[in-house]
Amino acid sequence: MHVELHPKFVNTHSGRHAKAITSACVHCGLCLTTCPTYLDSRDERDSPRGRIYLIKNLLETGEASSQTQLHLDRCLTCRSCETTCPSGMQYGELVDIGRELMEQTAPRPVVPKTLRWLLRSILSRPRLLRTGLVFAQRLSPLLPARLRHKVPRRQSQKARPTQKHARKMLILEGCVQGAATPNTNDAVCRVLDKLGISLIGASKAGCCGAVNYHLAAHADGLDNMRRNIDAWWPHLQNGAEAIISSASGCGAMLVDYGRLLADDANYAEKALHVSQLSRDIGEILLDEDLSRLTIDTQVGKVAIHNPCTLQHALQQPDLIATLLKQTGFDIAITTEKLLCCGSAGTYSVLQPTISERLREKTLCSLESDQPSIIATANIGCQLHLGAAAGIPVVHWIELLDASCSSSHRGN
Ligand code: SF4
Ligand code: SF4
Repeated sequence: MHVELHPKFVNTHSGRHAKAITSACVHCGLCLTTCPTYLDSRDERDSPRGRIYLIKNLLETGEASSQTQLHLDRCLTCRSCETTCPSGMQYGELVDIGRELMEQTAPRPVVPKTLRWLLRSILSRPRLLRTGLVFAQRLSPLLPARLRHKVPRRQSQKARPTQKHARKMLILEGCVQGAATPNTNDAVCRVLDKLGISLIGASKAGCCGAVNYHLAAHADGLDNMRRNIDAWWPHLQNGAEAIISSASGCGAMLVDYGRLLADDANYAEKALHVSQLSRDIGEILLDEDLSRLTIDTQVGKVAIHNPCTLQHALQQPDLIATLLKQTGFDIAITTEKLLCCGSAGTYSVLQPTISERLREKTLCSLESDQPSIIATANIGCQLHLGAAAGIPVVHWIELLDASCSSSHRGN
């Protein structure tokens, strides 16, 4: 697809990069078949191809209409279209640029602008989020049912292992996950401890930057990334083998640090190194000898929910199934290939109607084989699905930890 850049974008990195990405699209429309919002509305403007045209129009006219805003806002950034596209279209990068240019050219009214600012301010600050969540958990009996379901129950936590091993890795404690399901990273620590690996949580690291970046606040997102790199760098120089993430949404952001900070002379090299060492906890376990764990699976059938960030950004569609099958879990059958569940970061707050329809469709497929539990790999999906599922929704590492914690062969 050819783009004739508007003069105001001709000399900008964003404009030139968006033009180069767009040139890969050959209009074939194959991506429409796996786009959750197009399948939901059947409106071409809610499809990847339609959105690419809207961004092309923005790049050529220098203006974003209310229609451009509506249909770019409705995109989940699930990147299913990238996996389907035969031309290698980098849609995720393009929509991030399109959104940033849209915010600059078509400012939002005060109320939606404030809501987006509030989401960025609260979700990317772990301490503030933890305090708010404790408050919401205490008040939840008084909340209307619709809101009560959205408040995650308080998790009971066991102490993390204290034994120090020669092998060590960093762990991204995260913001939403650290506050809502702290047991997930505790489970990561316990399982890796059994495999002879200690985890380091750098106290000055925080949100991975995804919340700000995907809400078009790129400067704030990049600042989050630089702060994390500064917090991790001494540990990496001191022998930490990897940076582990147990929320695939955060993992998808970490692998992009190198690309996003490529033009920052002070951080480009370090950011690339961080991206190269970043791993989802599942990717770490694939390389370890899991026969060292003694696992007793008692949970019944497990339905696997593959977050989009695991499937399309990290390109690991079979990761959870491979690990759970290898460790003896009984995997439920799902009726169709899963598309986005509608969580998509802040999407479930900003686009609740579409988000709930997508959740219903996803749960219908996940619960069709009458599983006892749903296992996922991303906190956003876990909370979103968990608010409406008839069975528990957990991170798969918690399932593995609970099944092997009582007995192991040591290290
Ligand atoms: S599948 Fe790829 S090339 Fe075809 S319309 Fe979609 S983005 Fe363009
Ligand atoms: S990222 Fe997802 S919702 Fe957005 S256009 Fe691509 S497939 Fe559709």
